[in-house]
Amino acid sequence: MHSENTMDKIREECGLFGIYKHGAQGAYLAAQTYVGLMALQHRGQEACGIAVSRQREIFYHKDMGLVEEVFDDEIIAGLQGNMAVGHVRYSTAGHKKSKANAQPLVLNYAKGQLAICHNGNIVNADVLRKEYEQGGAIYQTTTDTEVIAYTIARQRIGAGSAENAVFRSMKILRGAYSLIIMSPNKLVVARDPHGLRPLCFGMKDDGSFVFASESCALDAVDAEFVREVRPGEVIVVEEGQMRELTGHCGMEASKLCIFEYIYFARPDSTIHGQLVNDARRITGKLLAQKCPAKADIVTALPDSGVPAAMGFAEESGIPYVEGFGKNRYAGRTFIRPDQLSREQAVRLKLNPVKKYVEGKRIVVVDDSIVRGTTTSIIVKMLRDAGAAEVHLRIASPPFLYPCYYGTDVPNFDQLISHKHSVEGVCKVIGADSLAYLNLEDLPKIAPDVRDTGLCNACFTGNYPVL
Ligand code: SF4
Repeated sequence: MHSENTMDKIREECGLFGIYKHGAQGAYLAAQTYVGLMALQHRGQEACGIAVSRQREIFYHKDMGLVEEVFDDEIIAGLQGNMAVGHVRYSTAGHKKSKANAQPLVLNYAKGQLAICHNGNIVNADVLRKEYEQGGAIYQTTTDTEVIAYTIARQRIGAGSAENAVFRSMKILRGAYSLIIMSPNKLVVARDPHGLRPLCFGMKDDGSFVFASESCALDAVDAEFVREVRPGEVIVVEEGQMRELTGHCGMEASKLCIFEYIYFARPDSTIHGQLVNDARRITGKLLAQKCPAKADIVTALPDSGVPAAMGFAEESGIPYVEGFGKNRYAGRTFIRPDQLSREQAVRLKLNPVKKYVEGKRIVVVDDSIVRGTTTSIIVKMLRDAGAAEVHLRIASPPFLYPCYYGTDVPNFDQLISHKHSVEGVCKVIGADSLAYLNLEDLPKIAPDVRDTGLCNACFTGNYPVL
């Protein structure tokens, strides 16, 4: 058992960072990329990498592990150049954990070199992979990012430029992709026509162009947020100039992943005009309005449930209490299943504060229930600590469908809400009551995106692209 899985959370696959400064020398941009990746570490803890371009050649370093484990001063000092791209990765189902699958994916092909960083998932990757295999392609990795790389390399022949190759590829690739691509002399940034995975753009005072999955990474390198990369847009930075290119692949209705607001993104990031922390607070307020509970305290499963629990407390007038202590160092412990029960593994991470919960009627706010395995343990732990009643409020609708866009929402058979009604789930997890955020209320959590659209396919089955 890997204890990161202990908490039964779904995970984002990747975080991206790219920076360009005309005439930059030394390892300054690699160091900035290191800082940006540290800020994006929550989006992937399995592997990471940085590539730079120096004198029209790409150099890189990548490995399994956290950013601070993979890089040290000496490695960063060796990554000198005037452009850098970086990636943090967590592999979703079907993608093997291996160094070869770490990104940036650096490709040598007929037209030179490319370093590719990808967040998302290509839904027609298998079809394209087979087609390219029949044409003689040999793969080094098991990722769909390599399929993107092949597509771009094939389209580059006769395309005239790397950005034209990306345009052409966007007509072939289906699914979710935010891309930061570095050729030896330019950065090319692209977002799929639905904008399923986030990507934003900022500037530093020194003239550096910065791109990142989330605005918290722009803040970390002291870059000013300029705007989101638009769905279907391609941005090119070369010779110190930026060009914005749209309209080539037909923009579709925007379908940003709603789960960025609910769970994936850092609370201090702003996505499409909405601070993520505020979105989470709104979920709590809506829960308090629509499904109140008679209780003495409101608490949360730290950390992701905290803003929603505070919103619930604010709206209901029931005091918010830190009902759980969290072991922040238990996150990456690898434990064999025979060495520890699931309950012990959960206890290793979270411990109910007996003094606060004993004899109390408690509202517990969490962001989601996936398989339900951890939630039942949490309820039992609270009862063992003397809780009088446990009322669960979930800041998202029930997961009913898998995700095909680069997260690990699992298949139907593992989703507890696919197997049971709300009452049935409540019974299985042993709570006194259970309520979820209403589907109709979802757009209220990010008002600026409401009109352009959000993906909610894991709750509704309405997939924007298949
Ligand atoms: S299916 Fe769910 S998790 Fe996947 S992109 Fe859509 S909203 Fe996000």
